[in-house]
Amino acid sequence: MASEKIDYVFKVVLIGDSAVGKSQILARFARNDFSLDSKATIGVEFQTRTLVIHHKSVKAQIWDTAGQERYRAVTSAYYRGAVGAMLVYDITKRQTFDHIPRWLEELRSHADKNIVIILIGNKSDLEDQRSVPTEDAKEFAQKEGLFFLETSALEATNIEAAFMTVLTEIFNIVN
Ligand code: GDP
Ligand code: MG
Repeated sequence: MASEKIDYVFKVVLIGDSAVGKSQILARFARNDFSLDSKATIGVEFQTRTLVIHHKSVKAQIWDTAGQERYRAVTSAYYRGAVGAMLVYDITKRQTFDHIPRWLEELRSHADKNIVIILIGNKSDLEDQRSVPTEDAKEFAQKEGLFFLETSALEATNIEAAFMTVLTEIFNIVN
């Protein structure tokens, strides 16, 4: 079998408070998998998935934090070379949304200034427990120039769309 030709490798980092669903978002995207009792992530790791964008083969290398979600614990090595970032909060936990400006500040001080960022409100399946109105997040994203989507890793809602939004924008920037 002919070896797969890769045209681009894009590094994308997942950041946000602990337990917002970063690892499950990644599991859903990379392996179409989900676990309700997912263990806290141990050790820096990334997963890859190769997809086709505008007839080119793009390897997405998605990095997940290693349980380093305490403020300032994510090291600059994590951000190095990243061309995309997914800033995740939990729509049922207001505090995780209130911490987003901190994450954004950290991202902007460590990452490339042209990094493509999407704000993600995860756990949209828990509508009855919502504590962050969609409008609040939409407004914040607009003010900060971020893409924005609400997702559910559990129901696989908008996960593909979130990654495609980031990867396609990166693709358009490098082309
Ligand atoms: P992380 O610390 O940000 O990596 O969060 P995890 O991916 O480990 O998820 C934390 C908890 O939230 C786990 O119990 C997951 O099963 C759960 N979870 C993650 N995504 C969703 C989602 O979209 N909906 C629901 N209901 N639970 C989720
Ligand atoms: Mg995790």
